[in-house]
Parts: sequence; structure tokens; C-alpha cells
Amino acid sequence: MNPLHIGIAGAGLAGRTLAWRLLRAGCRVSLFDARPRGALDTASMAAAAMLSPLAELAVSDEAVFALGQRSMQLWPRWIDELQAGGGEPVYFRQEGTLVVAHAPDQASLAHFTGLLQHKLPPACRAQVRTLDAAGLAQCEPALAGRFGGGLFLAGEGQLANDQWMAALAVAIDRLGGQWHEGEAVEQVEKGRIVCNSGVAHSVDVAVDARGVGSRAQWPADNPLRGVRGEVLRVECRGVTLRRPVRLMHPRYQLYVAPRPGHQFVVGATELESEDTGPVTLRSMLELGSALHSLHPAFGEARVLRLSAALRPALDDHRPAIALRDGVWHINGLYRHGYLCAPALVDELAHKLLATDTEDAT
Ligand SMILES: Cc1cc2nc3c(=O)[nH]c(=O)nc-3n(C[C@H](O)[C@H](O)[C@H](O)COP(=O)(O)OP(=O)(O)OC[C@H]3O[C@@H](n4cnc5c(N)ncnc54)[C@H](O)[C@@H]3O)c2cc1C
Repeated sequence: MNPLHIGIAGAGLAGRTLAWRLLRAGCRVSLFDARPRGALDTASMAAAAMLSPLAELAVSDEAVFALGQRSMQLWPRWIDELQAGGGEPVYFRQEGTLVVAHAPDQASLAHFTGLLQHKLPPACRAQVRTLDAAGLAQCEPALAGRFGGGLFLAGEGQLANDQWMAALAVAIDRLGGQWHEGEAVEQVEKGRIVCNSGVAHSVDVAVDARGVGSRAQWPADNPLRGVRGEVLRVECRGVTLRRPVRLMHPRYQLYVAPRPGHQFVVGATELESEDTGPVTLRSMLELGSALHSLHPAFGEARVLRLSAALRPALDDHRPAIALRDGVWHINGLYRHGYLCAPALVDELAHKLLATDTEDAT
């Protein structure tokens, strides 16, 4: 048993995953979140949870790539650990991603391919394979005859994020985590989590994982902002995809990620806006028409949900772990949260477990 009592503000992907790892390591954990555990309006619940270290390299850098590569090794292990002993099921696949483009967008696909070959370390370049029409049809039979070819990104994966978040909640309860649900945190201080209700909870170590909710805690020379993203979730029995498909688009990188139960997540817009309002008609049409253009049978898809949320982002678009004034911060997961979470959380958990209780308080 580790005697540390760790208080975590924010039970999104970062805070919840960290709480589970620390409880497994024998710590006492108190977790605070302004929302109920199943609330859908956070980045963690809205995400498509594509695990795409290769494709994301086109819009990120070697730091995110390295975190993603390490996380791709941790994800299967952590999911096994979470499910061991009758834990909740979590859908996870690692069968690569397909990238396609309609004829007018072939230049975008060529640019994307060139960018990946340029930015990828030489040892990883063989993971990017060009497919002709026959190779594409073999890889994803539902798309046979619809595109002249495409790219296959080996080793990429996807996760059902709602299942991951729900399974973590069950595991945290089982391991005795103290979950302060629906309790907004006003201030995270050294050794204290102060709630909006005025109640202050003493802890040995305080962690701030509130996503955009901790915007005010980030300094002016490294500001945290919200970047709006919108996704569409549909159910469609007429199409079967084995793996996520990215569709080159001049404005966004759109993707269609298959989920259990004939469901598909279509995402995501990326807007420099902190608007938390519902999905706009324009975004709905763009996501819907991209889906329909992939396969006409999607015309009969049932719309299950439209979600919008803010991705917490720093200027360099890298995730960050920081210790300021005795408080640990994990934030800036931006559009790579699921891709990077295991490596990041593992790093922070090791730092926290190395904390001396005498120093902590
Ligand atoms: C549309 C969309 C699609 C995405 N797709 C992908 C993808 O395919 N792959 C990928 O890797 N990443 C993706 N992401 C990014 C990923 O979802 C985020 O990086 C990640 O979820 C951020 O997690 P977080 O825990 O840091 O923040 P959040 O999810 O924002 O969680 C923060 C938590 O803190 C709580 N909180 C906030 N303020 C307070 C307060 N004052 N008191 C108490 N609690 C508070 C909130 O209620 C919330 O539960 C996507 C994001 C979006 C929006």
C-alpha cells in the first residue's frame, strides 16, 4: 500500500486514467469533477478516439509521434488489465487506417503522403503503403470500385472511448477511489482541492486535470485555449468497415471510425473557437456529406448523436506535464489525447509515486 493521498481535479480522460493507475499502485485517490461521470459534453466523451500516430504526424511533431508510439504499446496492455477479472468490455482494434481521396482531392492525398514520408523516421516509413484499386478493395471490400487507390497506415488503431471511460469509472469504484461527482473545483493548490461549495479537501499531492476548465492556471507565456471539435455518430446496417477510413478534404481531415453495433463516428471539425454550443448546420452537412460520399448506403444511416466539445490546447500543440507552485498539471492533450494518454499518464504516475510524503505536504 502506498500511503500517498492524491487529489485529482477533473475526471476526463487524463484525470480518470491517472486515478485508475494510482489506485492500482495502492494510493488513496480523491477525484473531483463538475459533471456527472457519464456527461457527454467533454472532449473525452465527444472524441472519436482514433489512435493514429502516423496520420497525426502530418499535423503534429516528433514529440507527439513518440508519445503515440509508446502509447500504442501500452493501450493493449492497459485494456487487458482493465478487463481482467470481469471488468467492463472495451472495444479496441489495431488493424491500420485507410486514407482515400475523391478525384478532385487527389492533390491533398499526394501532399499528405509526401508530408508523412518526409516527417516519419526512416524506420517507420514502411508502415505507409500505397494501395491500387485492387489492394484497396481487398483491404476494405465495402469501398471496392469507389476509389482508384489509397494509402494504408499499418499499426494504427481505434478505441471506443465511451466504453473506456465507463470501464474506468467502474474500476475506480471497485478500487475504492473517492469520486466527488458533480463537484466543481474552484482552485487547485499545494496540498488542497478547493471546491466551489467552499469545502477544501486536504491531500498529499494535488493534480489539475480539468482540461479547458483550468485555463486560468496557465501562464500568459504558455496559454491554454479551447479548440472546438464536432462529431456525428450514426448507425448504419448497410455498410461494414473493418477499420477507420480517412477522407482527404481541403478543409479538415475527416474520418469515419467503425464502432460496435453497426455504429460509425464521423469527425471531426476543428475550429478556433471556444463556443460550446450545439453542432452547427454547416458542420452537420459537411460531416454528413463526407460520410455519404464514402458510400451511398450511408444515406440510410440513422443519426444517433451530434456532439461538440473543446479540445484543451497549448500553443505548441504538445501535451504537457508541469509542476507549478506545488501543483501538478496534465493538460494540452489537444487532438491527440487518446493517442498520447497512456504514455503521458504513465509518466505522471511515476513522478507522483516517487513523491516523498514528507515533501508533499
Ligand atoms: C470532436 C473531438 C474529436 C477528437 N478525436 C480524437 C481522436 O480521434 N483521437 C485522439 O487521440 N484524441 C481526440 N480528441 C482529443 C481528446 O478527446 C482530448 O485530447 C482529451 O479528451 C482531453 O482530455 P482531458 O481529460 O485533458 O480533458 P477533458 O475531456 O476536457 O476533461 C476535463 C474534465 O475536467 C472537468 N472539469 C472542468 N472544469 C472543472 C472544474 N472547475 N471543476 C471540476 N471539474 C472540472 C470536466 O467536467 C471534464 O470531465 C478529440 C476531441 C474532440 C473534441
